[in-house]
Amino acid sequence: MTVPPAVETRNLTKRYGDVTAVDGVDLQVERGEVFGFLGPNGAGKSTTLNVLLDFVTPTEGSATVFGHDVREERAAVRERIGVVPENYGLYDRISGRRHVEFAVELKDATDDPDALLDRVGLSPSEAARPTGEYSTGMSQRLALAIALVGSPDLLVLDEPTSGLDPNGVRRLREIITSEAADDTAVFFSSHVLGQVRAVADRVGIMNRGELVAVDTIDGLRSELDIGARVTLDVDDSPDVTFADDAITDVTVAEGTLRATCLEPGAKLRLLDRVRESVSVTDVRIEESSLEDLFASYTEADAGGEADAGAEADVGDEADAGAEPGGDGATAQTNGTAATESGSVEVDG
Ligand code: ATP
Repeated sequence: MTVPPAVETRNLTKRYGDVTAVDGVDLQVERGEVFGFLGPNGAGKSTTLNVLLDFVTPTEGSATVFGHDVREERAAVRERIGVVPENYGLYDRISGRRHVEFAVELKDATDDPDALLDRVGLSPSEAARPTGEYSTGMSQRLALAIALVGSPDLLVLDEPTSGLDPNGVRRLREIITSEAADDTAVFFSSHVLGQVRAVADRVGIMNRGELVAVDTIDGLRSELDIGARVTLDVDDSPDVTFADDAITDVTVAEGTLRATCLEPGAKLRLLDRVRESVSVTDVRIEESSLEDLFASYTEADAGGEADAGAEADVGDEADAGAEPGGDGATAQTNGTAATESGSVEVDG
């Protein structure tokens, strides 16, 4: 018997009057997978997550969590799931610690509330305060502590970074990574693309209710053919032709060879090939960023531009040289670090 995925939706559709919030979405999130859900405001992310939590009833289609229908088997779903919803209701006069204690009792769990509060970075004195006095980030941390009660097999997090300071974001990232290592699936929506890139195994991009792309970030890059721009400084005009589908847009001018590489390995092949005929004195690599991918999938009908090579280059090097297949080796050859352009978040 095949094991059902953590989340599966089939033709999931939700209409509010004339507005189709979610339009025929087929989606799977596997066990132990970190799945980042992206899309512009109003794309349908929260509505999709709220269907899983049975806060919203689909107009058509279905959703299951570990094979349990979210409507018919609500209790079975609730047992396996931990949630940070968009609007979590906290009781203003009750302390953070008491909230966690309630959650432990409700789930019939054995968690130590203090350990959970410590894990999300709420100190004992903060935890003792009524939540009416909490800042946005403190409330978000508390909501995460509550979601972790009972060691859920699926965490559903709607914008979990909202209001968090960079330390909180880093802590969240560590929690997501360690939960996933324990085979917990994490399905989270976010506008913080740097955060998504850092933790997600796969991403799904929603636009106007439709799931317009699902893949790894590398997969999306190659699907879109926007790859990486590679610039080589050379001491002479290389005498080469490229019969390689993954190396495109090759130009040579004034001691500089430029090319687009559509997969990581193509960068090394390009370098090797050029070095057969000339010396390469420097290498620069500009990866298409998640921002570019996001724009490509979501801005087309909004009149925006979807070009690779983002302008907001603040030198986020989170991925530089870390990809399998060659960036690190390329950087060693020439001493120039690869940079990924485009991230503008402080993502801890
Ligand atoms: P954001 O990034 O802004 O949180 P989102 O991708 O989560 O956006 P949703 O909240 O799922 O988007 O909204 C999708 C669409 O459904 C929007 O057009 C929204 O106005 C509409 N919508 C959501 N909830 C309701 C509701 N209760 N009644 C009417 N329309 C709704």
